[in-house]
Amino acid sequence: MHSFQIGILGATGAVGQKFIRLLQNHPWFNIKALGASERSSGKKYKEAAHWIEAIELPENVADMQVSECDPVAFKGVDFVFSGLDSSVATEIERSFAEAGIPVISNAKNYRMDESVPLMIPEVNPDHAGLIKTQSFSDDGSGWIVTNPNCVSVPLAMSLKPLQDAFGLRSVVVTSMQSVSGAGYPGVSSLDIIANVIPFIGGEEDKVQTESAKLLGAFDSGKIQFAEIDIQATAVRVPTIEGHLLSVSVDLAKTPSAISEVSRAFTEWESPIAGLDLPSSPKNPVRLYTENRFPQPRLHADREGGMQTAIGRLREGTVLDIGYVTMAHNTVRGAAGGAILNAELLVAKEFIK
Ligand code: NAP
Repeated sequence: MHSFQIGILGATGAVGQKFIRLLQNHPWFNIKALGASERSSGKKYKEAAHWIEAIELPENVADMQVSECDPVAFKGVDFVFSGLDSSVATEIERSFAEAGIPVISNAKNYRMDESVPLMIPEVNPDHAGLIKTQSFSDDGSGWIVTNPNCVSVPLAMSLKPLQDAFGLRSVVVTSMQSVSGAGYPGVSSLDIIANVIPFIGGEEDKVQTESAKLLGAFDSGKIQFAEIDIQATAVRVPTIEGHLLSVSVDLAKTPSAISEVSRAFTEWESPIAGLDLPSSPKNPVRLYTENRFPQPRLHADREGGMQTAIGRLREGTVLDIGYVTMAHNTVRGAAGGAILNAELLVAKEFIK
């Protein structure tokens, strides 16, 4: 396998740090360039970043110089990952794509652009085909691919087996989101310790629209959004990593018994199972039968933080079924999800 030289935009932030951690010893991707704001550029990474990961700052990165997020400073990279703040991602990501450097982004800015794939490899790998409709660079060498918001990840991962088996009508979801989802320094400690905040700005809209795009069909060069009614409530809770969701679903075809729904989860096969991508979890979706599982502290790190956990599956009293689901928000819901997207795009030869 060819080794790829990569850059990280927003390398000093919470998601940027997770990229650095997850890319240590990656078999295909080698960190060559790091970018952040003017505040950080020109400094060594160890001086620019307030390192918050629970491992030692890797030596190969500590002394690298951080540059501004200008494509000229990233000459020679095969593509970049972006963990940029959304206030600057639109222009910077576009400038890289226009310069012929593919961008694999965590930021929300291009997620709903009709030519940009919003991808979870196990849910909608065929949406990668949208890349061919992009016109950022004359020769098509520069493009943008995004991964969804950290709540849409476990929601879409858990809905996909249900969509395949029964079809979906409507979904009501309440998220219990950990503090790391707000970046660093994030939510004030006085607001969140021993407390719950029943509002996260902009989050509910993202969950509703992104899930319909993720579960939509790629047809004649366009995404037909899935026709599902989704109502989301986003709540911040004092956990550190792992977003837990309570989900109720009305299915298009009513299952004969709840055991049929259990089987839909346990027998579901990921469409990328045969590709053996380095960051792919063996079991992308795991159904727990113990009533007290899944829990963020116990299960967010399973399979390197790449597994989506499901539990409390039961018949509904209003909608057909209810369950809880959970995924690691800064791994599966951010940097790890973007790395898996990049691996898929290598396997599909969009990156070569
Ligand atoms: P963060 O900790 O605030 O980091 C933001 C990064 O953007 C820093 O590296 C910062 O560099 C850089 N930046 C800010 N202004 C810039 C400018 N003018 N030019 C160049 N770089 C600039 O945020 P985060 O939590 O890592 O989130 C990063 C992105 O990922 C956001 O778009 C967020 O919505 C998305 N996301 C986050 C999560 C999560 O769980 N945290 C999940 C999914 C998606 P400096 O250090 O130099 O200021």
